[in-house]
Amino acid sequence: MTHLFGTNGIRWIIDDHSIDYPVKLGLVAGTYFAPGNKVALGMDTRTSGPMIFNAMLSGLESCGCDVIDLGILPTPTFQYAVKELGIAGGIIVTASHNPPEFNGLKFIASDGTEFSKEQEATVEKIFNENAMKNVPWNQIGKQYRERHVQDRYRNSIISKAKLGDNHVRTVVDCGNGTSWEYTPGILTKLKCEVLTLNAQPDGRFPGRLPEPTEDNVGSLMMAVKQHGSDIGIAHDGDADRAAFVDDNGKFITGDQSLALFAVDALKKHGTGKVVVPVNTSMTVLDVIEENGGEAIITPVGSPLIARKMMEIKAILGGEGNGGVIFPDHLYCRDGMMTAVRMVEIISHNGPVSELIAQLPEYFLRRDKIRIPHGMRNDIISRVKSDAPGEVLDIDGIKIDHDDHWILIRPSGTEPILRVTVESKSEEQCKNILADNLNWVREIIKDLS
Ligand code: MG
Repeated sequence: MTHLFGTNGIRWIIDDHSIDYPVKLGLVAGTYFAPGNKVALGMDTRTSGPMIFNAMLSGLESCGCDVIDLGILPTPTFQYAVKELGIAGGIIVTASHNPPEFNGLKFIASDGTEFSKEQEATVEKIFNENAMKNVPWNQIGKQYRERHVQDRYRNSIISKAKLGDNHVRTVVDCGNGTSWEYTPGILTKLKCEVLTLNAQPDGRFPGRLPEPTEDNVGSLMMAVKQHGSDIGIAHDGDADRAAFVDDNGKFITGDQSLALFAVDALKKHGTGKVVVPVNTSMTVLDVIEENGGEAIITPVGSPLIARKMMEIKAILGGEGNGGVIFPDHLYCRDGMMTAVRMVEIISHNGPVSELIAQLPEYFLRRDKIRIPHGMRNDIISRVKSDAPGEVLDIDGIKIDHDDHWILIRPSGTEPILRVTVESKSEEQCKNILADNLNWVREIIKDLS
């Protein structure tokens, strides 16, 4: 049995599969969405995008689905479009932050959220049982092109922005991805100064790799410093994430920016629930508590965060990788909205470096341990039973202490365990990580 879906859709290395693979996935998707329904199709800027887009298009139409072609656009814009157009759902061809040789698919439900685990299981069942059904010639799907909903998306963000008196000077690094027609234009409309880097679409990603990590955004850090800008903004390939650089050219971690958004949301609402995954920093958890809010913890994965937010009417949700969900906008991560909200915060409260300096500081370290195949569950249950005190076991095992925590979590895709430690001092963090790596290695030895 083949599992198609990872934490965020289906991904593969282009050279690992022939075109038969996306053609089959198109037929599977068409069978899932069923004849007579409208399904949106979009893509990011990857070189393999049009090839996979067209394979999916053929599959969907041959199963009787009408296809709405949305062209190249960011994932959040695509999710907005599916919801706005009131259609059965959509598929965007994207590998998000992965290197250029990857591509993939994200399946979007009619309400604009990513597919639930149950929906993914139904798709996998059709794939594994080869239960695809195509329709006769006179029921083949039609094809429409839609480019207006993208403007409505931009206007929706612009209309929600409430900037303060400080004029904000930005540098936007689009990373040759889908944000090039969105963030620079939106910020210009909001009367910010906008300089751009890598703002031309190019699926070879010649400017930098698509993941906006500190290592990949060196040019942005330099540009912010050189131009005396207030903030640097870097998106991943499909622009559902935004990473930031402060006014000194220093990289802001995703947990630090999430903490600023949590403070902002709690100031606006007075109180409320903020949904974050189990690997979130104490920096975020502390400010939620200090500002009168409540942190709700989920397993890792943005679709789970989004669904939990809807269920409990949360005021904010997000991950420490720059993916933030603003429920007054959309129930999905949105890099453009994240950039605008950051600019809003600076326009009211002044230099972002000063806001970051006020946040509680912690040190985080992680490492991984290779584990023998098939032993993952045994190791995790042993870690759970041997751990001191109470543990949180919704996704791996999290052991909480007053001034530090440890998370031991199996990877979803590789035979490894990730061990993460966060604590008040760097020295303590290093020692706790070493102790816990040894502890887990002993358990593995014992079980082998
Ligand atoms: Mg992404």
